[in-house]
Amino acid sequence: MSLARGVPLVATLKWLALLAVLMALPAVGAPARRALQSGNVTVAYNAEDEAFARTALAAACDALPVLEEALGLTARRQGSHIPVRIEIARRQEDFDQLVGGSTPPWVQGIALPRERRIVLKTLLPSVARTVVAHELTHLLLGEMAREVDVEPPRWLHEGLAKFAAQDFTEIDREVLGRAVVEGRLLRFRELPDAFGGNREQVALAYAQSYTLVRYLHELHPGGGIRQYLQNLALTRDPERSLLRTYGQAPEILEREWLAQTKDAYLKHGLPLSAETAILAAMALLAAVALVVQDRRRRLLRQRLQEEEELRRMFGESSLPDGPPAASCEREPQDPDANLS
Ligand SMILES: [Zn+2]
Repeated sequence: MSLARGVPLVATLKWLALLAVLMALPAVGAPARRALQSGNVTVAYNAEDEAFARTALAAACDALPVLEEALGLTARRQGSHIPVRIEIARRQEDFDQLVGGSTPPWVQGIALPRERRIVLKTLLPSVARTVVAHELTHLLLGEMAREVDVEPPRWLHEGLAKFAAQDFTEIDREVLGRAVVEGRLLRFRELPDAFGGNREQVALAYAQSYTLVRYLHELHPGGGIRQYLQNLALTRDPERSLLRTYGQAPEILEREWLAQTKDAYLKHGLPLSAETAILAAMALLAAVALVVQDRRRRLLRQRLQEEEELRRMFGESSLPDGPPAASCEREPQDPDANLS
């Protein structure tokens, strides 16, 4: 490509250099970014978001040990080698600029694993902890998957994110409970498609992904998830990877996982009327017991009153205690009875 005719090359380069410097400077009036750091986690924010930045940093530091343990990073001393930058934005346009594209307004956070960045909107502290841990999971899992050149399944991403964020709510329990009662629990092979289903199926896919990751993590804590990813990279088969990692046939693992889910969440899916019926039966039994007790008390009081009455009539010593004793006196006989 040739330069504009008549413009010397040196002058053009000077202008380009000046332009680059000007672009690197913050815009006039734009607030200067601040940063907080702990270990390898850095949070960048504007002054108005200082409190939220501290909450986000604390949430990341809380979630990291759980994630590093589940991903086997602690044993390999790799956890500290992954730098993470969390960018905080208050306005939608700032958020989109940091993400590098327009996003729907309901998106609260995005993980960009290749850049080792998480972009967050300013949130309520209670929500912030969950969102930070959730996005941090996507970032670390993405980083690990890239190492072995495999794409983690969606159930692993979302289940591990909920696990690390301790984001398992009463709503999740009810979703599982209803699915148990209605016989709609998803099988292992059905999980991927359920994430693209209707609202009810998506909610079930998230809740079951959580129970699956928790189940697998309990089978093989401290790095099982990492081994699963490595096996997935080797076999490219989700079920064979289960067998290689956990040493049991996928059907057995699936049966145990679903049985545990049924046992734990059936009660959350019972219809309200059944619960009400149980409560009503308990209340009825309690009422019957009260009536019986009251009747016994009245009878006892009545008997005591009668005994008191008898005491007054006969005096303490002559109070008959029971049925009259058999008399030793002979019955007066009919004078004519012995006559023949
Ligand atoms: Zn997610």
